[in-house]
Amino acid sequence: MTTRTAIVTGGASGIGEAISRRLAEEGNQVAIFDLDSEAAQKIAASIEEQGAKTMALQVDVTDRAGIEGAVEAVRRDLGRPTILVNSAGLALDGPFLETTQESWKASIAVNLTGTFDCCQVVIPDMISEGWGRIVNISSSSFHSGAPGLAGYVAAKSGVVGLTKVLAKEFGKFGITVNTVPPGFINTPMFRRTVDSGFVDLDAQIAATPVGRIGEPEDIAVTCSFLVSEEAGYITGQVFGVNGGRNM
Ligand code: NAD
Repeated sequence: MTTRTAIVTGGASGIGEAISRRLAEEGNQVAIFDLDSEAAQKIAASIEEQGAKTMALQVDVTDRAGIEGAVEAVRRDLGRPTILVNSAGLALDGPFLETTQESWKASIAVNLTGTFDCCQVVIPDMISEGWGRIVNISSSSFHSGAPGLAGYVAAKSGVVGLTKVLAKEFGKFGITVNTVPPGFINTPMFRRTVDSGFVDLDAQIAATPVGRIGEPEDIAVTCSFLVSEEAGYITGQVFGVNGGRNM
């Protein structure tokens, strides 16, 4: 098995954590980029206990210079990254007419521009290696819309478009770029929306054909397939993982 170096943004919690663990179990070296450095260190340490080489770096994906510095550290300590999973994200906003410029810009910065910057910094390494896999975590709200989340849904829809452009530009270098828009997944972010009353859990389960919300591992298994060697003919695609809620 080839040992590859993966970067997972937002890898300190929820979906990103499950993806980091899964990629490490499958023999990859994993660098966790997250704002929450304490949580990132903890997860990296627990992955190392299973025998995989990891790094935890405090990175704010809205800070381009910070991303560049962190990727340089990964190159130095783990080698060129050829797998990138963009999972860092934040659902902000509120009712549309009350959405401020600041909140709109913050949503776009984390959820869309952060993905753009991480891709732009890492793709040259993939080109040099003649191989790369990018998975961008968008959101099922791109299929359906979501009241009160204008900036978030606009940004996640932008991630779908960005994914398709990158797939077309970089396929010839052996790089695939896909997006996974998750449905409701049992993570700290999701639990906050339930606790605040924004999401009615029972109603959402009732509206889901498979009769449950998702677990972070449901996304990790999809991601693991998309970054595999065998998935080299799959690019520019949108892989809904939502229990059938969105088709
Ligand atoms: P989470 O809150 O559990 O984890 C998100 C992680 O991103 C956290 O560790 C956080 O510290 C990190 N992060 C936030 N802003 C950052 C920044 N500026 N720079 C670096 N790291 C930052 O959330 P989750 O549910 O695991 O969400 C992961 C991704 O999945 C997000 O992009 C989210 O929008 C998307 N998503 C989640 C759901 C769901 O139901 N959980 C549904 C659709 C899409």
